[in-house]
Amino acid sequence: MARALARIDLAAVERNCARLVSELRDGAELCAVVKADGYGHGADSCVSAALAGGATRLAVATGAEAAQIGRRFPQIPLLTMGALAADDLEDALAAGSEVAVWHEDFRRLLSTRGRAQGRPVRVHVKYDSGMGRLGNRDPAAVLALARACAADPELDLAGVWTHFATADELDSSFFGEQLDRFTAVADALRAEFPGITVHAANSAAVFRDPRAHFDMARCGVAVYGLDPFQGDPAECGLTPAMSLRSYVADVKRFSAGDSAGYGQTWRAPSDTCVGVLPLGYGDGVRRALSNNADVLVRGRRRPLVGTVSMDNITIDLGPDTDVEPGDEAVLIGSQGEESILTEEMARRIGSINYEVTCGISVRVPREAV
Ligand SMILES: *Cc1c(COP(=O)(O)O)cnc(C)c1O
Repeated sequence: MARALARIDLAAVERNCARLVSELRDGAELCAVVKADGYGHGADSCVSAALAGGATRLAVATGAEAAQIGRRFPQIPLLTMGALAADDLEDALAAGSEVAVWHEDFRRLLSTRGRAQGRPVRVHVKYDSGMGRLGNRDPAAVLALARACAADPELDLAGVWTHFATADELDSSFFGEQLDRFTAVADALRAEFPGITVHAANSAAVFRDPRAHFDMARCGVAVYGLDPFQGDPAECGLTPAMSLRSYVADVKRFSAGDSAGYGQTWRAPSDTCVGVLPLGYGDGVRRALSNNADVLVRGRRRPLVGTVSMDNITIDLGPDTDVEPGDEAVLIGSQGEESILTEEMARRIGSINYEVTCGISVRVPREAV
């Protein structure tokens, strides 16, 4: 009996990567994105599973993440995707990571770092084709930057890339616009620098359009078996890797009118039994799930009743329950014939699956199986 436990199915991670590889056009590599501790799943164990499933490269967001992954997997090409302040940059480079560049002044800084470390810095020139976030918006500047990188002995021009804003919105035509803009820039660069790695796709783009695959896809959410389109991961052939488990610490009899939890937001409409589970928003079970979630016990859905508190939640078990203290409770995942998807929990709180798994707090041990 664990108070709160996130079980991570590494076979699912491996299978999901194999699924992504099978979807990619011939020759395109899978880069597993393991930022934010593998979207809350535990980066170290997920990297091993992703590599077993056919991923050949890794990506993270921050210098500290690069340090962690680079230390454990020094032989695997690693890209740090984020903007890097001075300390972050030192961490990323010390880890042997490749880095993003989209301004000439940062290129010059990278050049001095390359000289200092005695080995060229591998750089990916980033084109902002419409995300409006990181990257250079001017195709001519991107081209000039790439040429400057290629001409600089302290730098290796490793790639050119972009990121889609609406790959997961199937009715958006903006995806096609971004793809067209990026394709033009990528074609021009490939003509001059045939060896570079061209990459654009996230998980949604991989399933959406093979023209977005180029030489490599940067997939995060699908690696963990979460649906890039916020529906059912099974529709993309993906298997959820994380389940969130607790147990019934107590079962108590409620008379009609008795209340559970802070603020008395729920009162028993009739005599019933209430189960108490020893986890709460301190574990990442968001307070917006108050009176707004189901929990599986003995293979059946039980409504979460009352307010989610930091360390406890309560569920309605009905008047004649067979549930006993010690029974397993599943907040995300399967039990018997029933299952609750991360996507369901996300929908209930007006969020997305990414935020739910990233939000499972450090208080919850990750158990890789
Ligand atoms: C996080 C991230 C990805 C991965 O996106 P998913 O939707 O999780 O597949 C790819 N590229 C960049 C730049 C990212 O920040």
